[in-house]
Amino acid sequence: MTSPPSDVPPVVELRRAGLTYPGTPPVEALKSCDLMVGRGEFLTVVGPSGAGKSTFLNIVGLLDAPTSGNYLLDGVDTGALRDADRTALRAQRIGFVFQAFHLLPHRTAWENVALALVYRGSGRAERRAKAREALDRVGLGHRADALPTTLSGGERQRVAIARALVGAPSLLLCDEPTGNLDSATAESILELVDELHRDGMTVVVITHDPAVAARGDRTVAIRDGALSELVRP
Ligand code: ADP
Ligand code: MG
Repeated sequence: MTSPPSDVPPVVELRRAGLTYPGTPPVEALKSCDLMVGRGEFLTVVGPSGAGKSTFLNIVGLLDAPTSGNYLLDGVDTGALRDADRTALRAQRIGFVFQAFHLLPHRTAWENVALALVYRGSGRAERRAKAREALDRVGLGHRADALPTTLSGGERQRVAIARALVGAPSLLLCDEPTGNLDSATAESILELVDELHRDGMTVVVITHDPAVAARGDRTVAIRDGALSELVRP
């Protein structure tokens, strides 16, 4: 039996969450933000350089904790977690995709993907099977044994997406995923993200590009650390 959506907590819930970097003067990089991202939603976050996008990503991705307010991931209030628990929750629930791919150059595509499972306690054979399955899902099964240096930019980003998906995360969190790609390749990566969303994945894409932002079913803008919902035609 599936439970009605009202029983399921949002994947992301920011409650008056803010982050101030200490210093003289301190920098209020994220101002008291309220935000909910429900299961299966595709949110895009847009804003100019210096607006607070990376700060937002770091909080939502559990890389940093808000200095005020609360962040709940899948209903878990992350403020009370110790570092080790925060790291474990991040590994279980968040799949990251970055502009610069961040693949290990001397590992094959499948090994790069399988590394995301090392902390899950699965054995090598199981990791290998899951990695190959994830590579199939992004259309790269035939390149599983290739080294990243022999792959195109678009193929490298597909490997990175497979690595993000292999642990069945709650949230796919992408930071400028097409920033290093030509426009045709960028389009194919955005189509892949659309497809994952249609299959039920919850997606947050951070971008400075309004055309990328328009792919989401909702967009919020960050400006001077403040979030606001964009109303689109
Ligand atoms: P974006 O990713 O949108 O370019 P950031 O989130 O990186 O913006 O930065 C938001 C603001 O916080 C900027 O004014 C930036 O200079 C400042 N900032 C970022 N990181 C730090 C830090 N570690 N210490 C102090 N200020 C920071
Ligand atoms: Mg940034």
